[in-house]
Amino acid sequence: MTIQVTVDEELCIGSGDCERILPTAFRIDEARGVSVPLAGAGDQDPVLLERAAFTCPTQSIRLVAADGTVLHESNG
Ligand code: SF4
Repeated sequence: MTIQVTVDEELCIGSGDCERILPTAFRIDEARGVSVPLAGAGDQDPVLLERAAFTCPTQSIRLVAADGTVLHESNG
């Protein structure tokens, strides 16, 4: 099940927590200092995606299931 993964770039402070938890889904864009979801991020382990979203210090990560259910809301 593909999950829609987005990062609110206005909120993200580039802490890198998401990349450390799930490097196959998130990569820090060093030039801009924000996390960018990678291609295929939504096909990664949902438990780890939710952990990354929950751990994000600024709650920048939003996860939406294929059926439209919001799994994790961002603060954006
Ligand atoms: S954990 Fe949150 S604030 Fe830190 S880089 Fe990832 S999205 Fe940005």
